[in-house]
Amino acid sequence: MSFDALGLIPELVTVVSKQGYDTPSPIQAQAIPVILKGQDVMAAAQTGTGKTAGFALPLLQRLSTGKKAGSNQARSLILAPTRELAAQVGESIKTYAQHTSLRTTVVYGGVKINPQMQRLRSGTDILVATPGRLLDLVNSNAISFKELEILVLDEADRMLDMGFIHDISSIMELLPKRRQTLMFSATFSPNIRHLGTNLLRKPVEISVNKHNETATTVEQWICPVDKKEKPELFLHLLDEHDWDQVLVFCLTKKGTDRLVGFLKDQNVKASAIHGDKPQSARTRALADFKAGKIRVLVATDVAARGIDIDQLPQVINFDLPIVVADYIHRIGRTGRAGASGIAISLVSADEFKLLTDIEHLIGRELKRKFIDGFEPNHNLPQSSMVRKIKKPKKPKVKGQRKTTRDGSAQSSSRGRPNTRVNSKKKVSKKKAVRGKNNTRGKRKVTALSSRKKQTAAAKHKKPRKYD
Ligand code: AMP
Repeated sequence: MSFDALGLIPELVTVVSKQGYDTPSPIQAQAIPVILKGQDVMAAAQTGTGKTAGFALPLLQRLSTGKKAGSNQARSLILAPTRELAAQVGESIKTYAQHTSLRTTVVYGGVKINPQMQRLRSGTDILVATPGRLLDLVNSNAISFKELEILVLDEADRMLDMGFIHDISSIMELLPKRRQTLMFSATFSPNIRHLGTNLLRKPVEISVNKHNETATTVEQWICPVDKKEKPELFLHLLDEHDWDQVLVFCLTKKGTDRLVGFLKDQNVKASAIHGDKPQSARTRALADFKAGKIRVLVATDVAARGIDIDQLPQVINFDLPIVVADYIHRIGRTGRAGASGIAISLVSADEFKLLTDIEHLIGRELKRKFIDGFEPNHNLPQSSMVRKIKKPKKPKVKGQRKTTRDGSAQSSSRGRPNTRVNSKKKVSKKKAVRGKNNTRGKRKVTALSSRKKQTAAAKHKKPRKYD
């Protein structure tokens, strides 16, 4: 199939072929014709599938006819969770729009608001924004949406994770009811479905990846290692594989800075990118990495969604993420658009619970590689043991109080998701942070574990003793 056959105008077909895109990716093949028809879309597309062009190309085509935007008006709005993603989507759209007369404006926080207000004075066809800064601009009367035709929520699941639900609700109240709405998310979680029910009208559902499936082109494995050995092990892997460039994820801002300090001491060119860095430093670090000036970019999850770097074959999880879905987003930085990649996680014994959660999420155990000289003293158990423990279901006792252990039970169509989404997420995050102190979960597992042990002993162990 060609981009031509999808019904795109020659100005856009020329530009995609200049980008080297020969055939539409699956999300593009499915989404472009539907969006061109003016229908709402709810799409589950993993990062790296080409989803930006999937919504940007038909959006540009629809806006290429019609009236120019009035002053302080936007004809379309693309909401993105992070500054990096907003900047990147803005760049892609400017590239795709180069043969049209459409104007794209990108706004996000962490930089001066006045130049953004000035740019919005003459109106814009496409406004790419992060939610917080957009509301600041609305409050300053720099933008209004009377002429809005199309709304895109990019990485909607991430926006919920980041607690933007109230901002999104406030923004929705400012938009005309009559509009085309496109929602893109890595997965169709129950919370995303609820959000979709509120925002979309008879959406066409598109899914190009199975629930929680990681990119098949990415080879994934873990290195069990003691926590204090992680910096040395990373250095060892860097040297051994002679990687040109690596993106490394750490859990905390401090950890990120610490690793960069360590690498610099070892004469490895490295930079950090995290939320405490001024926007200018974040932009510079990313630009230097993209230009090949630095070898290792160490990031917190803030950067997980916004980085699209051509030819990035490896991603390292120096720490496992607390929000398990971030594992998928992190490794989505490699293996983009069908390219192959490697994602290696350095896992210490204290991260066992996080590892188990990830393996449950992706539905399989990750291959383990023990590196000579770095074998851990603290054992990292196999997740399958825990999975077996979790399997038996307690028979329900009549009259017993019903408890919910995860968000899915709350997801019936009668629930009020939008405000709950957030608090739920926060709770689960806290739970994860508490880790070992999570006595509620611990007690349950222990109880099941001892029950299982008794059953096993009764069934197998005892007779075998007398064999
Ligand atoms: P995205 O999922 O939108 O972040 O896109 C991931 C990468 O795929 C970007 O670097 C795009 O330039 C690239 N890309 C998008 N569409 C295609 C296509 N049809 N063929 C090849 N590469 C593409």
